[in-house]
Amino acid sequence: MIIQVRGLTKVYKMGVERIHALAGLDLSIRANEFVAIMGASGSGKSTFMNMLGLLDRPTSGGYVLNGKPTHKMGAGALSTVRNKEIGFVFQTFELLPRASALKNVMLPLLYSNQGAWGARKKAKRALELVGLGDRLDHKPNQMSGGQRQRVAIARALVNAPAIVLADEPTGNLDSTTSHEIMDLFKQLHDQGQTIIVVTHEEDVAACADRIVRLRDGRVVSDHPTNEDPIHRQWLESVAGNLQEQLDAESGAPEVTTPTPRKTETAS
Ligand code: ADP
Ligand code: MG
Repeated sequence: MIIQVRGLTKVYKMGVERIHALAGLDLSIRANEFVAIMGASGSGKSTFMNMLGLLDRPTSGGYVLNGKPTHKMGAGALSTVRNKEIGFVFQTFELLPRASALKNVMLPLLYSNQGAWGARKKAKRALELVGLGDRLDHKPNQMSGGQRQRVAIARALVNAPAIVLADEPTGNLDSTTSHEIMDLFKQLHDQGQTIIVVTHEEDVAACADRIVRLRDGRVVSDHPTNEDPIHRQWLESVAGNLQEQLDAESGAPEVTTPTPRKTETAS
């Protein structure tokens, strides 16, 4: 198992109120899985991703990442693990606005004390992998949303992380660009990358091979994508709509041809 989460809780204090964003969450993920995390707004998806990404600490519970018991680690060790094992992709890209694509992707390497020359070469290779080999010197505001997200994905990949985490990576993209980004994730998964993506769209989840659904900070269902009841229902409705469209197209001439009226034929 590359990820083992046991009894994870996260309680936020809001004045006197306590919000149980995660309420005893258990989940295991194997290397090379592509998992979609789904659930209604407020179900704890982002909180869970922030825990998996070591961006925030749980209130209680265990999280073993790639053999490392992160719940027992101090801040220094955690930041090393975060830099080495985790690539994070955000809905809002989170690029440095005044740095080129190349500099943005080099940044995590410089944090891990790699020489600038090696970092430049690795960053260039990561940008080539996501199809941006010809945009190295472009700044974020000189690129489309899809290209910005590709830069963010290159940045997530540049340290060859054990897991890639993406929290609604297509949330700010149009549907064509969303499909391109999901195709890129699929391609990375085919190359062996472990990927966990949060989404509320079934067509994005369709790219994953497993769907985990959360409610009130717990796992309420966990199925291979093609066995997930909600996903299957969605697939059927998509197929149904398609069939209706085809029927309407093939049946169109007959429907619009006026049938002769009795009075007309009689005269
Ligand atoms: P999701 O990503 O599924 O929409 P979140 O993980 O963002 O859900 O939020 C889960 C719950 O925790 C929500 O009720 C939310 O209001 C609450 N929450 C999230 N972050 C914080 C925070 N920093 N402080 C207080 N409450 C929070
Ligand atoms: Mg969220």
